[in-house]
Amino acid sequence: MKHLAVLGMTVMLTFAATPPAWARGGEQFGSIGKAVKKANQLRELQMTDEEEQKLGAEVSNVIRERYGVVQDPAVHRYVTLVGAVLAVGTGRPNLPWTFIVLDTDGVNAFAAPGGYVHITKGALALVQNEAELAGVLGHEITHVTEKHTIRAVQKKGAIKMGAEESLSGNAALFNQVVGEVVSNITNQAFSAGEENESDEKGVGLAGKVGYSPQALADFLTRLKDRNKESQEKRGLFPSHPEMQSRIDKIGQQASAMKPAGSATLAERYRKFITFEPVPQAEIAMVEAGSAGLAGGSGDKPDEKKQEPKKEEPKKRGFGLGKLVSPGGGDKQSTQASASGGSRGLDPERDGKGGPNPKPVPVKVDMADINAFKKEGGLT
Ligand SMILES: [Zn+2]
Repeated sequence: MKHLAVLGMTVMLTFAATPPAWARGGEQFGSIGKAVKKANQLRELQMTDEEEQKLGAEVSNVIRERYGVVQDPAVHRYVTLVGAVLAVGTGRPNLPWTFIVLDTDGVNAFAAPGGYVHITKGALALVQNEAELAGVLGHEITHVTEKHTIRAVQKKGAIKMGAEESLSGNAALFNQVVGEVVSNITNQAFSAGEENESDEKGVGLAGKVGYSPQALADFLTRLKDRNKESQEKRGLFPSHPEMQSRIDKIGQQASAMKPAGSATLAERYRKFITFEPVPQAEIAMVEAGSAGLAGGSGDKPDEKKQEPKKEEPKKRGFGLGKLVSPGGGDKQSTQASASGGSRGLDPERDGKGGPNPKPVPVKVDMADINAFKKEGGLT
């Protein structure tokens, strides 16, 4: 791996240059095209590695637009180094691995296909040391390397493509897939089996370089405690029995690992990460349009309503705003109903995001990764 860079302008420019293809997208189903399309066998969604990365880049755009990005190069460099240490040990070291810290207080992480791993500052605040961060990133990295999201979209079967069709050759199809993937990862629609696989392989990646393999269980225990009032699925928290079973499994794996790493590196973590956790009840929620959702738990809702909406504009007609309030779209509500009606509202997912979606580019090479490992006493 030559570099790990936050993909920024290159990808966006590629998309900006695509419009001719968009325009063609409608034409190919013209009168003759329609018949041809009917004759074509529909098949399961397929994509090349290159298309997977393009898809991930666009999904990441949507997520960054929604939540904003913490504009702190030191934080990004640190998280990237921890992620890179793990990513080079996977079967897909050459993906454009990109680690993005989202500017929102909800505890969450989203792994987009192609190597784009997003973690919220709320999650970083709940994490207490570098080994826990490695556990969480290892888990997310595994969702990418094992293509869990792509497989989920394929399994759902809602998106089919023609035998002759390619994902990059059909803008409408591409957008549909982006929407599906965004929905899938923000709703954490992974099976228990996939979560277990991500735990196991993630802990393996972290343990292999010397991090304490127990650390992910420590984090999940804290997450479970944060959700003790809730039986619902929230953010990364699935449900009590599932969570307990995951914690138990990690514990078993950790005690079976030989030699088990023991590095936690709490001090180094605190040197870079100083976010404070925000309790779920105090997370400021997004404006929710006509859905009439209450603004958090009365945490200065009036102030929030007057803020200019910066995070709303969506380029392609999909985005997390839609997921939060299906009927609301981009309409900004001036009314927050006190009665709440907080059906399906998840403070870990639906919290307000920061104003700046700009990526914070980080480049690290193998020398940086090795120096970082050495400094932390990792192997
Ligand atoms: Zn997961």
